Amino acid sequence: MGFLYFHLESIVNKPHFDLQKSLTENKTSCSSIVEEYLSQIDSQSDLNAFITVFPESDLRTHARQIDERLGNGNAGKLAGMVVGVKDAIVVQGQKNTAGSKILENYVSPYNATVIERILAEDAIIIGKTNMDEFAMGSSNENSAYGNVLNPLDKTRVPGGSSGGSAVAVAAGLCTTALGSETGGSVRLPASFCGVVGLKPTYGRVSRYGLSAFASSFDQIGPIGNCVSDVALLTEVIAGLDPNDSTTSAESVPLYSQTLDTNVKGLRIGVPKEYFTLGIQKEVEQSVQSTIEKLANAGALIEEISLPHTEYGIATYYILVTAEASSNLARYDGVRFTHRSVGAKTVHEMFVKSRSEAFGEEVKRRIMLGTYVLSAGYYDAYYKKAQKVRTLIKKDFVDVFRRGLDCIVAPTSPTVAFNFGERMQDPLAMYLSDIYTVNINIAGNPALSVPCGINADRMPIGIQVIARDFDESMCFRVGHAIESMSE
Ligand code: GLN
Repeated sequence: MGFLYFHLESIVNKPHFDLQKSLTENKTSCSSIVEEYLSQIDSQSDLNAFITVFPESDLRTHARQIDERLGNGNAGKLAGMVVGVKDAIVVQGQKNTAGSKILENYVSPYNATVIERILAEDAIIIGKTNMDEFAMGSSNENSAYGNVLNPLDKTRVPGGSSGGSAVAVAAGLCTTALGSETGGSVRLPASFCGVVGLKPTYGRVSRYGLSAFASSFDQIGPIGNCVSDVALLTEVIAGLDPNDSTTSAESVPLYSQTLDTNVKGLRIGVPKEYFTLGIQKEVEQSVQSTIEKLANAGALIEEISLPHTEYGIATYYILVTAEASSNLARYDGVRFTHRSVGAKTVHEMFVKSRSEAFGEEVKRRIMLGTYVLSAGYYDAYYKKAQKVRTLIKKDFVDVFRRGLDCIVAPTSPTVAFNFGERMQDPLAMYLSDIYTVNINIAGNPALSVPCGINADRMPIGIQVIARDFDESMCFRVGHAIESMSE
């Protein structure tokens, strides 16, 4: 920390509510908050959490403007919050690579809706965070811009695909971050890095301005050091958007103001299928002991069954690859940035541009997706997977119809694994998502909260899954879990 701040309280890893208190008591300012984060980003650059850090002079000007508004008493509710944004959510005038070489020099001419909304509440965006290419991955080893290191153990992965966002929050490089989920990409890195992350209900948050991966799954979600920060950010970004026809008109509660830790009388389901399939002992023990604490606090715990769980991974990897193969067709060398030089025909230009600039995993997904959509295979794979999707959704509908308030389960069967461990075996990598993807298939909201550590001091995450549009329940139970582990 620089000498400039010797009289200031450190802001690193503090919840936004504490920062706001320090701001109103004049113990700090937005300008010094930004300086401190910039120096943290600089001193921890080996983590490789950011693909782009915005120009310091712009950040300083922005911070001064917000300090002025704070002085005049007309600042927005995110004043003092510094946000890292996954490099798949566009910010006007800034690069948006989606972790891919194919978008290396793409500069967005507009802001995503979530960006408009956080800026309107005076958040400061400090930069764009690293990610798996087009959000395809579980370890952040598929970025064209290098691996992101887990700050808790630099020999381990941070989880993916929103690895840069989770690391930026965990390492104190920003207050909160935005990530995106197609199949666990907020919750898995949140769990691997010991922070909190929400996958909102499908349709809760606008995806206008999010680089598309699989459109019937994609959802933007916030990451923070605590449940209250994630709740606050969710209430700002959620809600109807005329630019995204999949957004819902369902009203948006003020989640951060109604946070409760009372779980007395809540009916909480524990799905038996989420404690098999290669779960590590310490993960199981930590999740079970958290469930016991919930029971001691008055929650009514019931074992439940989600019988189609085992088909989740296969269903997910058929449907998302199909959608990805179609979504990624737009990167053709004609539009956007990477165009192969020296191609002699238009066809050759398409082929070479795509072959040169897409990474291995993206190519694998495009080929798989094209295959499952092709004549003769469509019925056997794509159509069948759509039917199984309906059954998986029905599992969730049925348990909630029986009066359950929420479901708790481990976020991941393991803690963060080592670099390289699963790269040679795509199936082993896909199995990292075994507890997360079914919730994306079904569309329900789910919050991952830290619930313990293993013998190597690596964090373990538990997820709270609720009914559609009942993010409040995720926050309530998540907040209870958070206060129990303090
Ligand atoms: N690991 C999953 C995949 O590779 C999840 C990705 C995501 O949620 N964006 O598809």
